[in-house]
Amino acid sequence: MISVRDRQNIGRALQVAATSPYIKFRHGAVAALNKRPLATATNRLRNDPATMQDPPDAWRHCSIHAEVAVLRRAPQANTIYVARVDSSGDPCMAKPCPACVSTMEAHGVARVVYTSEDGIAELRLPLTQDAVNNSPRHR
Ligand SMILES: [Zn+2]
Repeated sequence: MISVRDRQNIGRALQVAATSPYIKFRHGAVAALNKRPLATATNRLRNDPATMQDPPDAWRHCSIHAEVAVLRRAPQANTIYVARVDSSGDPCMAKPCPACVSTMEAHGVARVVYTSEDGIAELRLPLTQDAVNNSPRHR
């Protein structure tokens, strides 16, 4: 069930996504506690100086996904909103990858709301193994 506050938070995530420095895949995330926004982040390139300050495994990733970046800023969040925009700035599929799902589950995130080509979708965490296997791997 997508509420008015969910739509507001996705709207914010879309604004943040448009500022992503990683032009090819522009993602933005909002971390919320009971739908109240706590922090925002974009995905970032690994060689970004700001990324390299993040402990301790930042170097492993070719990019830091927005969901992980925002959890570093607000580890107490229980809902993550993630949006992706294409080169025209239009919303597109932002379903979390398995690595981000694992990280969010480890932080106790219960719900992810994300953009897709035809609207707003949600995932409840923890996922079943089938849902993990069907998640996209690229970003
Ligand atoms: Zn990811």
